[in-house]
Amino acid sequence: MFKPVSSKVNFPELEKGILSFWKDVQVLHKAAESRANGPRFTLYDGPPTVNGNPGIHHILSRIYKDVIPRYKAMKGFYVFRKAGWDTHGLPVELEVEKELRFNNKTQIEEFGIDKFNERCRASVMRYLQRWVELTERIGFWLDMADPYITYQNTYVESCWWIIKQLWDKGLVYQGYRVTPHCPRCGTSLSSHEVALGYRDAEDPSIYIRFRLSHEQPWEKSGLLARLGWDQQKNRWTNEPPSILAWTTTPWTLTGNVALAVAPREVYVLVQATTGDGTTENLILARALLDRALGTGQREILAEFRGTEMEDICYDRLYEPRESFVAKGQALPDHGRVVAADFVSVTDGTGIVHIAPAFGEEDFDLGRAQGLPMVQSVDLDGKMLPNDRPWDSKFVKKADPMILEDLGQRGALHHRDVIVHTYPFCWRCDTPLLYYAKPSWYIRTTACRDKMISGNRDISWYPEYIKEGRFGDWLENNVDWAFSRERFWGAPLPVWRCQQCRTCECIGSIDELKTKPGVTGLNKPLDLHRPFVDAVTFRCAQCGGTMNRLPEVLDAWFDSGAMPVAQFHYPFENQEQFEKSFPADYIAEAIDQTRGWFYTLHALSTLLFERPCFQNVICLGHILDAKGEKMSKARGNVVDPWRIMDNQGVDALRWYMFTASPPGNVKRFAADQVTEVMRKFLSTLWNTYSFFVIYANIDNFDPTTFEAPEPASDLDRWILSELNQLVNQVDQALDCYDPTEAGRRIEEFVDYLSNWYVRRSRRRFWKSGSDEDKLSAYFTLYECLITVSKLAAPLAPFVTEEIYQNLARSVDARAPESIHLCDFPAPDMTRIDTRLMEDTRLVMKVCSLGRAARAKASLKVRQPLSRVVIRPRANSERTALERLASQIMEELNVKAIQVVDGESDLSDGEVYSVTEEGGYAVGLSRNIPPELLDEGIAREIVHRLQTMRRSAGFEIADHIVTYYQTTPQIQKAIESLSSYIKQETLSRELISSVPDEAAHTEKHRIDGQPLTLGVKKAG
Ligand SMILES: [Zn+2]
Ligand SMILES: [Zn+2]
Repeated sequence: MFKPVSSKVNFPELEKGILSFWKDVQVLHKAAESRANGPRFTLYDGPPTVNGNPGIHHILSRIYKDVIPRYKAMKGFYVFRKAGWDTHGLPVELEVEKELRFNNKTQIEEFGIDKFNERCRASVMRYLQRWVELTERIGFWLDMADPYITYQNTYVESCWWIIKQLWDKGLVYQGYRVTPHCPRCGTSLSSHEVALGYRDAEDPSIYIRFRLSHEQPWEKSGLLARLGWDQQKNRWTNEPPSILAWTTTPWTLTGNVALAVAPREVYVLVQATTGDGTTENLILARALLDRALGTGQREILAEFRGTEMEDICYDRLYEPRESFVAKGQALPDHGRVVAADFVSVTDGTGIVHIAPAFGEEDFDLGRAQGLPMVQSVDLDGKMLPNDRPWDSKFVKKADPMILEDLGQRGALHHRDVIVHTYPFCWRCDTPLLYYAKPSWYIRTTACRDKMISGNRDISWYPEYIKEGRFGDWLENNVDWAFSRERFWGAPLPVWRCQQCRTCECIGSIDELKTKPGVTGLNKPLDLHRPFVDAVTFRCAQCGGTMNRLPEVLDAWFDSGAMPVAQFHYPFENQEQFEKSFPADYIAEAIDQTRGWFYTLHALSTLLFERPCFQNVICLGHILDAKGEKMSKARGNVVDPWRIMDNQGVDALRWYMFTASPPGNVKRFAADQVTEVMRKFLSTLWNTYSFFVIYANIDNFDPTTFEAPEPASDLDRWILSELNQLVNQVDQALDCYDPTEAGRRIEEFVDYLSNWYVRRSRRRFWKSGSDEDKLSAYFTLYECLITVSKLAAPLAPFVTEEIYQNLARSVDARAPESIHLCDFPAPDMTRIDTRLMEDTRLVMKVCSLGRAARAKASLKVRQPLSRVVIRPRANSERTALERLASQIMEELNVKAIQVVDGESDLSDGEVYSVTEEGGYAVGLSRNIPPELLDEGIAREIVHRLQTMRRSAGFEIADHIVTYYQTTPQIQKAIESLSSYIKQETLSRELISSVPDEAAHTEKHRIDGQPLTLGVKKAG
């Protein structure tokens, strides 16, 4: 006997039972043990940053990380799946800053870096527990007993080792460059972090006049005379003209030192008439006259090339304090015009204002042209004091004040608003500033070609990411700015001499301990700030004191280092590392092409000259049901726990696997998870429950019989479908395509339930035992067991439940869990293509026939005299004739006629016809009296069966039936009494008032009254 199964099932409850079963039998441990000698399959767990509660998108990547290893384990692999937790970095700091209501770094320093970092650690530990709970609940099998945690000394030490390797190869350097800088977080960001935060922003778009100076010491081209300069008197004849320049960042004007023109483009001196009739002389690109000046009256006075304008002097709008100018540089009295190839005449005025402190191109141009650098903004993004109204204001707040000032001084020609994409801090959403300052870099550009060629060896799913998003990213590689001016991170292992400025990189704790004159090494050793900052030693060059530089590492460095650092390689576990490198499989969302996927690939290429992962599933982002990004502000964030508690994990997993291919953007709708539960899981469950109910009635025990040869076409057909399914699912999962695997399984379960079981019902119902019944039991049993194994990697809970009851309960030697079983192998000899094609043809015809019946409002239970079928091709004719009995039974008709392609089969008084895809199926509308009787009898059978259930009878109970009705219905009952008796297990049909003990109901059939009563036969 199998454990009785109710057709009503609470999946979330069932799943909790399975979870505790797995724990009790230590199934994860056994999974590893039982495959210990198998080939190795390594998963790298991309460590989630544990700085918040996991969301629905985390579940997506985590179930994808689970499904392939589960499949591989069933295929006989020893799966290595060590958990990892990413614990460092800005996200964590930001969370703690919020707790403490801090807005800037000074507050952290005043609070104490040690206390701040202690809080960061505590915050991570708090969230970590929730991540562990979630990971368990979703059935993500991961070795969480021995995880790697990025804040551990061992992990940090491996990071140091990596940096030392790169340092020795000359791949680490400090550069003074313009870097994207978050003024709130007070740190540089790397280009891949910047790439995470682009969005549309509204900024002022302003056109500003820069008046040409009254002194022109450098001009050489002779252009000045044409602009109105009196060379004899060495002054302007009239008012000097103004250069019209354009910018979207007014605050950068405070750092302006030059104006750049495109050398080969044509510029003009134009006399423009303003609204009040006055005129002014302006200089700008000819191509942009209309766009910059509009339609006002104007006259072109001179035309010239950009190169001719070089070295003309203009008056700066804002004079910086001396302290703003970079050390060792002198600020000339005037700004000057320079030529630069990056200037275009596609927008603005064709003249670009240059502030070398605030832009990468500006910075490079400044170096090339010997321009001074004026730094008028501090690292918090605030304007340095210079007796202006905007002193100490944040740059974006200073913008409107500067605009007002420009307006008052007549420097503002006109203003507009522009919407353009601008980078924001991916963590705190502050607009980034491009800011010239020193930063530490890894020279990734040195291995760009190797990264590109290595990428060719990686299999990407979907494939277009490889040459697309990831390939492009590698092609446009820039050096990795990997230092952060922050607190909670692995420290940069670089010490610098106070006296001679020599730098030294430390590659291990032992190396540090053995440095001459080392002090400050605490016990127990904590490699975090501020403790590590206290460690000093003697300079080998000059004997001065070596201090650690204050920077910490980009947290993306930690995650990219995990192939090495998870083993504390090379200090320990060399063998483990070698066995697990490269990984067979990783999976994350698409944004990681510039995050984890990239840092893994970059570090692996730099260190080992090869990729560190072979297969990667790259997941699309999750949006809400309307296609909007989920955010707390919109209030459309889905709480994964609610879904898991209501619909269950299997439904959630199945939905995520099958709704769309992994690379697609997913619109998440909770009601679709319910739909999956209803359509797939419940169908599977009901089929299983149907089997158990009848198998228990008949005492069917699969272990006590030999499976007979399949008795009927129906059995042979479903077994053929099953073996084809095994083959397809195996191939799909082998190609990292759980979507295809799930969809095929879904289709099969639909066939199994809605065709095989429905058409086999009578075989299970009939009393006694014979070969045919036994064959039906064996067939359905095999289908249920096999399909459960196929679906186990995708829906690990319900499949375990079915397996435990159907397999383990009758066979103690069967593996303890479905997940310890071998993945099914197809028996290709059982695949009968013609039979499957035939059956699909029958299904097609029947579905059209049912539509024709519905269209004519002919009741399902009313037998009809004829179906006429016009197949798509004449070749299907023989098949249809061979399958005639199935079609007649399914469509409840008494005769079948197949007509050829030319025949006219049209909807009308005689037939109700539906057509689709070249097929036409018609049902005769005219019903003879004997068929009307049969229709009534069938209707009565249906109602009696429902009454049996309402009365609470067992399926095998025999009953006595009472009825009272009109003569017409009575006649139908009498003429078909043996059929009614057989179908309802009625010993007698008695035409009288029902016995008092009977369950009685009043009905109407075709408008005629009918009283029915049922009671158990004595
Ligand atoms: Zn920030
Ligand atoms: Zn020194």
